[in-house]
Amino acid sequence: MPLIQNFIDGQFVDGSEGKTFEKRSPLNNQVNAIVAEASRADVDRAVKAARAALKGPWGKLSVDARGDLINALADEMTRRHADFVAAEIADTGMPSVVAGPMCGRGAANFQAFVDVVRGVATECFETPTPDGRGAVNIAQRRPVGVVGVICPWNAPLLLMTWKVAPALACGATVVVKPSEETPRTAALLGEVMNAVGIPKGVYNVVNGFGPNSAGEFVTTHPKVDAITFTGETRTGEAIMKAAATGARPVSLEMGGKNPGIVFADADLDAAIEGTVRSAFSNTGQVCLGTERVFVERPLFETFVARLKAAAEHIRIGPPSDPGSRMGPLISREHQRKVLSYYEKAARAGANVVTGGGVPGMPGDLADGAWVQPTIWTGLPDDAAVCTEEIFGPCCHIFPFDTETEVVERANATEYGLSAAVWTRDLSRAHRVADELDVGIVWINSWFLRDLRTAFGGSKHSGIGREGGVHSLEFYTELKNVCVKL
Ligand code: NAD
Repeated sequence: MPLIQNFIDGQFVDGSEGKTFEKRSPLNNQVNAIVAEASRADVDRAVKAARAALKGPWGKLSVDARGDLINALADEMTRRHADFVAAEIADTGMPSVVAGPMCGRGAANFQAFVDVVRGVATECFETPTPDGRGAVNIAQRRPVGVVGVICPWNAPLLLMTWKVAPALACGATVVVKPSEETPRTAALLGEVMNAVGIPKGVYNVVNGFGPNSAGEFVTTHPKVDAITFTGETRTGEAIMKAAATGARPVSLEMGGKNPGIVFADADLDAAIEGTVRSAFSNTGQVCLGTERVFVERPLFETFVARLKAAAEHIRIGPPSDPGSRMGPLISREHQRKVLSYYEKAARAGANVVTGGGVPGMPGDLADGAWVQPTIWTGLPDDAAVCTEEIFGPCCHIFPFDTETEVVERANATEYGLSAAVWTRDLSRAHRVADELDVGIVWINSWFLRDLRTAFGGSKHSGIGREGGVHSLEFYTELKNVCVKL
């Protein structure tokens, strides 16, 4: 049975209190690893190591030298791509067609932020003085310090490196708390850090849970200078409270209940293809996924029939089946949550267009966290399944009649992460994009990402923007140096 350890100050270590927890495979609910749980003392050691590296070898490197090391890291991640994919699959049960591109984004994140940091200009003002000689004001970017990185399980390596890469490129150091469901790729990244000579203490990993465990120990540690988090809105609120002590900055990427809006003039094939991906990719465990689909009435029946056919065509299976396109949910616990919404929808009188239950799986897979891709129609906008984030492979489709009406209904949610709009009318596309209260709008596409763009949510979906130069706002602090000439 593999043992997954913490990675502190360049070394793999057990928890100092000897505590461990079991990691179960989502495929069959069997234990497939033992994870060493970090104690408060371990987290303290990790924070001290991160601070020492910040003040020592890492902090003393030039931007270029740091960039070279990080690019070497990205190269080594690419060389070990298959190992990362295998680790991600062991934790999540994803098909390799899903895990492969996600792990590829790990290396790409590091390369992208090296480019950003190397290319960023420094602000300088020439200031007049009474003696006529003047002064210059130079804004220097300094790393924010030791960053606590709290990660979710739905795209573990991709989402962790989305934070670790800009932090390191900016010269900060990190203490990462991976999700208890997905500890493997964070540990593997520690091996790669050592292999390419990233100084010890720059990257630390502490395993455990949230409250009374490593998550809380990181976010309440007084020497953690900033906290970046991706996960549920409720957890983000708890983290923000923890960060209030010491008035430390937070970056929060949280939940969504994202709308897809399909106008009758849309390219139907593209809208179907995009909605299938946005509703069912990664078994619906994508924060940017579409759980509410609004379709203009003349297209409604056709759209529902086409999406049903596409959903029923998705092959569900384990990663050992090369034809599989949809794996299980992350855990039996999450399966219970998703199935509770399937039951709520049925009880509320939804028309179950397809799915609504658990697929029949052979052998020990029957014990895994499988669910069917599911489509509903017929519920009111304020039904629980239409307002609460489910995070499963499901969506509700509503008809609509006017642009004004659909914008209002799409915005009638506490969340504001993303939206996808499908239309051939360019003016309408711009108008609707302008009116949607979200951080990201895709027109005639979904999840088309450029790592230089601002990424984040409005309303309860987040605080702050990461991506490109926007990440510098969080991972660095500006120091103004005024030089009298
Ligand atoms: P979660 O909030 O349950 O857990 C996220 C992390 O926080 C885990 O590592 C967990 O151990 C830790 N944690 C829990 N309680 C804590 C506490 N009190 N203090 C410190 N740490 C704590 O989220 P999840 O279930 O792992 O992920 C799914 C959620 O993430 C969904 O809501 C999804 O929408 C969201 N998400 C958002 C984005 C985005 O970019 N906006 C991206 C991916 C996922």
